Amino acid sequence: MKLSELKTGEKATIINVKGHGGFRKRILEMGFIKGQEVEVLLNAPLQDPVKYKVMGYEVSLRRQEAEMIDVEGKGEITVALVGNPNCGKTSLFNFASGAHERVGNYSGVTVDAKEGFADFEGYHIKIVDLPGTYSLSAYSPEELYVRRQLVDDTPDVVINVIDSSNLERNLYLTTQLMDMHLRVVVALNMFDETERRGDLLDIDKLSSLMGMPMVPTSFKTGRGLQELMHEVIHIFENREGHDNYYRHIHINHGHEIEDGITNIQQYLKGNDLLRLRYSTRWLAIKLLELDSSAERVIESLPEAAQIIEARDAAVRRVKEETGDDSETAIMDAKYGFIRGALQEAGYQIGTKTDAYHATHWLDALIANKWLGFPIFLLVLFLMFEVTFTLGQYPMDWIDMGVEWLGDFVSRTMSDGPLKAMLVDGIIGGVGAVIVFLPQILILYTFISFMEDSGYMARAAFIMDKLMHGMGLHGKSFIPLIMGFGCNVPAVMATRTIESRRSRLITMLVLPMMSCSARLPIYIMITGAFFAAKYQSLVMISLYVIGILLSVVMARVLSTWVIKGDDTPFVMELPPYRFPTAKAIFRHTWEKGKQYLKKMGGIILVASIIVWALGYFGTMGVAPSLEQSFIGVLGIAIEPVFSVQGFDWRLDVSLLAGVGAKEIVASTIGVLYAGDYNFSQLTAFCFLLFVLIYFPCIATIVAIRHESGSWGWAVFAAVYTTALAWVVSAVVYQVGSLFY
Ligand code: GDP
Ligand code: MG
Repeated sequence: MKLSELKTGEKATIINVKGHGGFRKRILEMGFIKGQEVEVLLNAPLQDPVKYKVMGYEVSLRRQEAEMIDVEGKGEITVALVGNPNCGKTSLFNFASGAHERVGNYSGVTVDAKEGFADFEGYHIKIVDLPGTYSLSAYSPEELYVRRQLVDDTPDVVINVIDSSNLERNLYLTTQLMDMHLRVVVALNMFDETERRGDLLDIDKLSSLMGMPMVPTSFKTGRGLQELMHEVIHIFENREGHDNYYRHIHINHGHEIEDGITNIQQYLKGNDLLRLRYSTRWLAIKLLELDSSAERVIESLPEAAQIIEARDAAVRRVKEETGDDSETAIMDAKYGFIRGALQEAGYQIGTKTDAYHATHWLDALIANKWLGFPIFLLVLFLMFEVTFTLGQYPMDWIDMGVEWLGDFVSRTMSDGPLKAMLVDGIIGGVGAVIVFLPQILILYTFISFMEDSGYMARAAFIMDKLMHGMGLHGKSFIPLIMGFGCNVPAVMATRTIESRRSRLITMLVLPMMSCSARLPIYIMITGAFFAAKYQSLVMISLYVIGILLSVVMARVLSTWVIKGDDTPFVMELPPYRFPTAKAIFRHTWEKGKQYLKKMGGIILVASIIVWALGYFGTMGVAPSLEQSFIGVLGIAIEPVFSVQGFDWRLDVSLLAGVGAKEIVASTIGVLYAGDYNFSQLTAFCFLLFVLIYFPCIATIVAIRHESGSWGWAVFAAVYTTALAWVVSAVVYQVGSLFY
């Protein structure tokens, strides 16, 4: 690193002065000698000369001169961002790491985490943005993941980001971090809101009570970032330090629980390997909470049986003496601690009502028993209406562009397999997909706005009862809506559902939501087979049939396949906030990116494969489609679909659609060239089949990742295809009787 790159306030050690003779000598004489520490007193972007402090003197160097001096920072600090969802972690991450952001690759883990770098006071700081969690129990994959990161990758310092307008609730996670005996700095974020509300809080008092520094911040503006990082470095440097704000504090859980902790700890403390990785107190508390992953940790110990025995005895005693199960007792004790600390720090929620005032009357309207549902339907209707009408324009432009590109390549290249592959395979295949990007982005903008503003949480609330009827949870509703855009990000969005059972059912019925990839087939077939006035009716019927099937399947799955009770959990109703444009843009992009990835990867490959199978046959380039590989295959499987009246060309399109459903449309385009020879009833049954069967490879892979097993992915692939076959066969056979 060059000395000139250091910013005001940063420190570094000199390792080399470059340059010749007189210049070098003069610099050395000023005190810039190898091994010396140098501090930047003033260096702004266009600052020249730059002011430094070296060997106790202030000196000015021209920028050019400072560029000749190599320095070494003080090494790297790894910082993890931990906090509830929507408390501003990602905003902090973006402010701190600026342009250095890089998406982390955590193989084998399906939870998003980003890492980036920032330089402060001579340190190279690695920042890891972890997913949001309300607690560190082992209910959701997010919680487990954050916990694993904290235990296995032990960050040097944890920044606990807190929504200070919801202090009591947010501090709960903080108390769990205290148990883990980590070095924590608290960012009291959203401080702008609490100030506007007029909250009272003695921050220094609360800091010393909880044993960790706390810094008011607002990552709408970046306020408090320097101070926060300063505290991080301070804590890092004083590894063994015991100043006021950094103390390890034991929350008193009441004597029954504390006795239990001590008993269990006796056994744990005897094991050195265990002590190296875990705070034994934390592990003991987790065991008392009947935490299954903590049990797995101690399972292999020689003392495992005794530990479990001690735990069970403690649990029994707590039950006898307090009437509560130990998990509840621990939680109550933690909230008691928080309330006490807040009281002592003079915490008072302000009355200059602002965010919450608006929230109350908005909730009276939006979450109203009678009005909530119609309002919600109206919002949904608006969302889809705008998505499809507004999205039509850019869609047409892209369509024209793709067509132009195909023509251009057709005209300029000479005939041959390469040209055919480019025009029919790549441009045709990927082009059919990319046209949906605008619609998907508009839909995701709506969804991001609803999520960030707090409306989605209300929607989940309103839908909760209905979803319970399906064996699902209110939160399942959000991924289901996203499914209309693209199933892949929707499957990923199931992560927010704490209950594993609801999560699994949700991702298994998700493919019934008609994603936008199916739209071109609907448009193509209805356009050719139905009179104009019935076309939209047919299309809507497909969407509705998909939704009804998802309801039926959810019921079936929850009753017979994925049994068990749901863990109940709180549905947060965060205050309404007008989201920043930047956050909306970012969240829209994060979802849209998944779609683009699918396009560049799986769809590109599938398009080329389908094209090649249709272009080549056993004797090289096939003279006609019937003689190509795909034609032979289609004719071979024709009997399977005779019940539906599909001919081999439709079968081939369905095969091709396994890669991605958009390919069904482009394959039909190639095979029939507009000259259809089947009935209206067959056409409708074909649409039904397309709606229901195998979603697409990308979705199946996403299900594999999110469910953690190939078993469920294969199950999803098989049951959807079987269901498609049965539904289309029944409709065809019954329909033939009347029609
Ligand atoms: P995360 O879920 O913890 O990563 O939270 P985000 O960083 O995505 O922030 C959630 C929302 O809160 C976004 O709309 C942000 O613009 C907004 N936000 C973040 N920090 C602040 C803050 O300090 N004050 C206010 N008023 N809004 C904030
Ligand atoms: Mg985030």
